[in-house]
Formats: sequence, C-alpha cells, structure tokens
Amino acid sequence: MTRTITMTRIAFIGLGNMGGPMAANLAKAGFDVHAFDLSREALASAKSHGCEVAASAADAARGADIVISMLPAGQHVRSLFVDGETPLKEIIEQGALVIDSSTIDAESARDVAAALEKKGIGFIDAPVSGGVGGAQAGTLTFIVGGSEEQFNRARPVLDVMGKNIFHAGEHGAGQVAKACNNMMLAILMAGTCEAINMGVKNGLDPAVLSEIMKQSSGGNWALNVYNPYPGVMENAPASNDYQGGFLTDLMVKDLGLAMDISQQSAAPVPMGSAARALFTLHKANGHGRLDFSSLMTFYRDKKDGE
Ligand code: NAD
Repeated sequence: MTRTITMTRIAFIGLGNMGGPMAANLAKAGFDVHAFDLSREALASAKSHGCEVAASAADAARGADIVISMLPAGQHVRSLFVDGETPLKEIIEQGALVIDSSTIDAESARDVAAALEKKGIGFIDAPVSGGVGGAQAGTLTFIVGGSEEQFNRARPVLDVMGKNIFHAGEHGAGQVAKACNNMMLAILMAGTCEAINMGVKNGLDPAVLSEIMKQSSGGNWALNVYNPYPGVMENAPASNDYQGGFLTDLMVKDLGLAMDISQQSAAPVPMGSAARALFTLHKANGHGRLDFSSLMTFYRDKKDGE
C-alpha cells in the first residue's frame, strides 16, 4: 500500500546543527515526524518546528515507516541500531526503511545494513553535503549507498530535504564518495590558503588575487564560494571570525575516514595525508571549533602576542 505524506510516519534521531533543520523541513512538508535527541534544547526546538517529541529513540522508531539518523560518528550509529542497550533493530517494524545521513565509516554502514537486513528492515547510507545553510534551505546534496529499490523508496523523503540526490552504488558507496569529496575539499582549501598567503606576502591585495585566480586555472570551490581570507567574501565564515560553517573538528574526522579507506584499499593519497596532517595540527592549536577555512590563520604571519 502506498501511503500519502501525511500518513507516512518518520522517526528522526539526532537533531543537531544538521538534523534539527532537516526534521523541521519534513514536518513543514506534512510528514508525521517523531523526533528524538539526547539534548533537551534540541527537542524543544524540534517541537517548535512541528515535530512530535519522543521520550526515547525506541519510542520514536516504534511504528515508523522511515527512520532517519543524523549522528556524529560510526559508534553512535552502530550503538543506536545494532549493539546499544535497546538496539532499534529489535524495535523497528519489518519492511521499514532506515536512512542514515551521518558521515561515518563505510564499514559501519555495511555492518548496520547487514544487521537490519536480517530483521527484514531496509537501510541506505545517505551522507550529505551542503552544510547547515543547505539543511535549513532544504537544498542538501544526498549521496546514497543501497539497492535501486531502497534508493527509489527514499527519494520522496530526500527530495524534501535536498536538491541533488545521487545513487553512488551499493551499501557503503555513499560514505566512500563522501570521504573522497571531503578529502578533495580539504586539499583545495589548504592550497587556496597557501596561494593567497604567498600573494599577500608579496604585496598583492587578497581580493584582487582571488579574482585573478577565480578567472584562471586555479579556480575551485574553496576559492570561488568560500574564500578563507577575511573580508574578501562577505558571507564566508572568514568574514565572521570563522564562526559557523563546517568545523575543523568535523573535517579532521572526515580526513580520518578517508585515510582508513586509503589504507584498506591501498589507494595512495599523499595530498590527502598532507591535508590531514595540516588540519590535525590546526585542531591541536585550539581551532577545532572554528570553521575549517580558519586554516588560513596557520599560514598568515603572526602579530606579536599571537
Ligand atoms: P551535531 O553535533 O550538531 O549533532 C549531533 C546530534 O546528535 C546532537 O544534537 C546530539 O545530542 C545527538 N546525539 C548524539 N548521540 C545521540 C543518541 N544516541 N541519541 C539521540 N541523539 C544523539 O552534529 P551535526 O553538525 O548535526 O552533524 C551530524 C553529522 O552530519 C555528522 O556526522 C557530520 O559529520 C555530518 N555533516 C555535518 C555537516 C555540517 O556542516 N555540520 C555537513 C555535512 C555533514
């Protein structure tokens, strides 16, 4: 039986910077959203955006057609569905579909998919790109790993939260594609910081140099829409003391996932390794909670006392 949107019951677990606005968009679209998070503030915010608040993840998931998770890392996802105190694989009804949008290791995604399959529950890994702005605007990119049938089933729900929905391959493929993308982003950001700093140290205006490179062969996403030099791009985190955006902590996590994939598959990633070393050093210097474009400060000359 095909259910209408208002009849489709969705459990949403993990209402943080990303999950909060994603759940709100689903409620706004008319889905029956039962939300849960460990944080009271996150629950209060979900309620004010039209979600039903559940007392536990199990309560949210009971009777749900679709269960969406948006959690920090692989251990949280494994614990929630498979090996925690009340694993949801024992609660979710047969025939339901789990959509995990957290950025986690591909192995955890495959293991959770297999454990749920044994119970007759579907699973897709569906990590996202597009940041908090994309989550709020409902314009995220979803990168899906799972069967064709599972992908098609998830599509109407993903369409509400995102603009570009890709089917990368079987279970785990979404996470591998996401790790490739974020490793490349880290490399591009580090290169962009390096080039702008060298130009500025040689007397160039950072805005003029950026414009030249944008129109030349050095153009890339970090330079074109996320300039790391303060004052060049009004809406970029660099012009707001590197607040908001995508945390250095999360980039370090994602680079760790990329290094695991590289090791398991013997795929050489010398540039990715260098980027990981740089961002890890930057985090160790106390910048984990700043946007990742704050790597710019690693290159710039320090003033006395800094
Ligand atoms: P966040 O830390 O803001 O949110 C995570 C939420 O999960 C928190 O509210 C926390 O209380 C909740 N949580 C943790 N364990 C829980 C449990 N067992 N049950 C219920 N709730 C639990 O993180 P975020 O920025 O929303 O990111 C979530 C995921 O999305 C991460 O994997 C991140 O790498 C990925 N991601 C983030 C961005 C971004 O720009 N922030 C972009 C793309 C992908």
